[in-house]
Amino acid sequence: MVSEAPETSQELSEVLEDLRRHLLWQEEDGGRFLQVDARLAAELRGAGLARLRAQTAKPAPAVAAQPAPAAQPPPRAPAPEPERPLAARAPEPAPARREAPASRLIEAPAQVVRPTAGPLPGVVEGERPTLDEIRRELGDCRRCKLCNGRKNIVFGSGNPRAELAFVGEGPGADEDAQGVPFVGAAGQLLTKMIEAMGYRRDDVYICNVVKCRPPNNRNPEPDEVTACEPFLLAQLRAVQPKAIVALGKFAAQTLLRDTTPITKMRGNWREYEGIKLMPTFHPAYLLRQPAEKKKAWEDLQQVMKFFGKQPGQRG
Ligand code: URA
Repeated sequence: MVSEAPETSQELSEVLEDLRRHLLWQEEDGGRFLQVDARLAAELRGAGLARLRAQTAKPAPAVAAQPAPAAQPPPRAPAPEPERPLAARAPEPAPARREAPASRLIEAPAQVVRPTAGPLPGVVEGERPTLDEIRRELGDCRRCKLCNGRKNIVFGSGNPRAELAFVGEGPGADEDAQGVPFVGAAGQLLTKMIEAMGYRRDDVYICNVVKCRPPNNRNPEPDEVTACEPFLLAQLRAVQPKAIVALGKFAAQTLLRDTTPITKMRGNWREYEGIKLMPTFHPAYLLRQPAEKKKAWEDLQQVMKFFGKQPGQRG
């Protein structure tokens, strides 16, 4: 973390602040902030939305006979979660994906989905749908079989103009219940990581590759990723972050279409749609393998450096 001895008291205090943050998300069961992007301005209607509609219109065969309900409202504001140590969290009824053996989260490559033919949504120059237009377009989505088991669509949360976005794999039980990404144990750790970087949770944008919880927390399947990916792409185009952190092998391998193991991919800048992308470990993996937090922190420090963020600097 520190390569040279600090020479001035200013440098020393920066090093200490850096250390404090390092410990903050690695050791301390701190609080968290949770906000939903409920304040999206309606603006910039464009052909990108029509394209999104055209490309994502295929209904899921399993529910084709069901009448499509009216558009679902945006994810509801989350109820504040009581502060409690991770160990005290109520056990989930089904085995959580994040309960999977740590090795599963880094070993087998995700089934990489090939790019869809033709242009993806939002490609018309100067025009792109806003997040709430994309959310409305997603509606009560029935485009893949994940709709059958979900409680809530987990669209995304955070700052619609964030300079930094985090992309995970897909909702777990807590996220499915609340309609908000990363609110379970892994989400609490992610919040600490974000805060350790000098951001508040609501400064950044957080979303997942798939918006509905896969049954039994299995990995999303290729057809599910294919159905959902145009929305992820449109979200990232709407937010226009300057950098993306891909959390875990599934997000990194899917976004980059690269089957390189996350252990090799992490820590090296890549590019997604012209946006800098840093692959790192999934917070759920870090919960299982705390010794790997040091590497993840190094990855996050590269992101901080990209934004010119100094230790101790907020905002
Ligand atoms: N894991 C993810 O990948 N996403 C979430 O939203 C929660 C846990």
